[in-house]
Amino acid sequence: MSLTKYKEQLHPTLKKYFGYDSFRPQQETIISSVLEQKDALVIMPTGGGKSICFQLPSLIFPKTTLVVSPLIALMKDQVDGCNANGIAAAYFNSSQSSEEQQEIITKITKSELNLIYVAPESMPALDNILNETYISCIAIDEAHCISSWGHDFRPSYQQLGFLKKKMPNTPIIALTATADKATRQDIVTQLNITKAEQFITSFDRKNISLTVRPADGRVEQILNFIDKRPKSSGIIYCLSRKTTEQLVSKLKAKGLKADAYHAGLSFDERTKVQENFIFDKTKIVCATVAFGMGIDKSNVRWVIHYNMPKNIEGYYQEIGRGGRDGLAASALLFHSYADVIQLRRFTEGASNQEVQIAKLERMKQFAEATTCRRKILLSYFGELLAENCGNCDVCKSPPQVFDGTVIAQKILSTIARVKETEATGVIIDVLRGAKNAAIIEKGLETIKTYGIGHDISWKDWQHYIIQLINQGYAEIAFQNHNALQLTAFSKNVLFNAAKVSLTKPIEALEKIGNPKEK
Ligand code: ADP
Ligand code: ZN
Repeated sequence: MSLTKYKEQLHPTLKKYFGYDSFRPQQETIISSVLEQKDALVIMPTGGGKSICFQLPSLIFPKTTLVVSPLIALMKDQVDGCNANGIAAAYFNSSQSSEEQQEIITKITKSELNLIYVAPESMPALDNILNETYISCIAIDEAHCISSWGHDFRPSYQQLGFLKKKMPNTPIIALTATADKATRQDIVTQLNITKAEQFITSFDRKNISLTVRPADGRVEQILNFIDKRPKSSGIIYCLSRKTTEQLVSKLKAKGLKADAYHAGLSFDERTKVQENFIFDKTKIVCATVAFGMGIDKSNVRWVIHYNMPKNIEGYYQEIGRGGRDGLAASALLFHSYADVIQLRRFTEGASNQEVQIAKLERMKQFAEATTCRRKILLSYFGELLAENCGNCDVCKSPPQVFDGTVIAQKILSTIARVKETEATGVIIDVLRGAKNAAIIEKGLETIKTYGIGHDISWKDWQHYIIQLINQGYAEIAFQNHNALQLTAFSKNVLFNAAKVSLTKPIEALEKIGNPKEK
């Protein structure tokens, strides 16, 4: 294909089929690279405009572009969207009759289709036309699904390496919104496109403010937060179906209109919740992670994580559903230790448990950070932010550091005195001199440090213990009922008077609410 010839076609094609006057950053470069038949890995945030990167070339290539996509549910929407724009697209899957399937195959052999969307499971049935006689280009959507390093691994994606072997001269464009460095490497290796050029558009969504709060009294905090933003739409992500429903009841009890969304609802129920949200009939959706994939709503003003997400990729994708119109949006994450412990339990038995634990650990570090959160987030995706962002809670009210040596000594000696067998809750109860049954039964009220910390609140003790864990002075024995244990560094604090710096607990949410928003 002549290079100059198609270059002239790019803008007119963009206008004619998509109605846009200009490309977004990188789109034109990516499209040119694809048309030059080079392999590409495209990392672009959700809503960034990935689809055009293969849909537009499909209009210029002489034969069909194969699009591998994981979700049959989303394929129909994409195909309908293409057809509405005058692009000849179809999907191929097991829900179709053999007549329908045959009809599609015939169209491909006649080069009558620009795009064919297929789930990896259905590819064997297309084997006869998966060759260079009929296919001009291959797009792998949600490419992170191929990698067990990614956050949404799908075994059916692992076979895709055969495509390059079978069609060595056909360009492959792999696209995803979320892939850290290790995942990117794994994607190109598994697809046999290690020479692919990597196009990484900035992940920075400056308009989304980032805030993390301790989870105590989260419902109260959420009510406060919503109260300040009565007219805006938002999503509250929860870990379980049950939590979404309980939260909806609590919000309703306060006169707010909210819907629950999770995989336990029927298709019709889910569609209704989505539509009411998109058309602003319901402002608040309490959802599991099932909500959001493929939802195109530009004016989501806030995203709350009621529970801690499993990893940074998931968190980033979910907060990315806020502020797509470029106007200010808020992301609020509640950090609870109980959540971390539960998420850790979920990793048990997984074949890639170590990867999952490492990812959870990064998520936890983000939540407990005392430096600019956006810097941490972007560094995770391989981007370096030169300046602090000024739009996260740490930048807006930097934590105050103080000499916490005495506090640390009290905690560590309590851990030592209960012989490293008790979890955080009991350690705090001992420090505060609690008189509950567990303490009395175990005889812990006779311990020397019993009650020496009654002047510090339960919540603040928890805050300090988390910091000691993060600084390596204590650790949690997950295999032993989450008992707190000492580390090699604890001795320095207990016996050699090593100094420990701690930060003051964070203020309550009301004080930092954003008064600018309506
Ligand atoms: P992604 O797949 O990266 O999540 P999409 O391809 O669905 O994103 O694009 C998100 C939105 O941006 C869509 O509504 C799309 O039409 C729009 N869009 C894409 N490219 C452009 C462009 N060059 N100009 C204006 N809007 C665009
Ligand atoms: Zn910041």
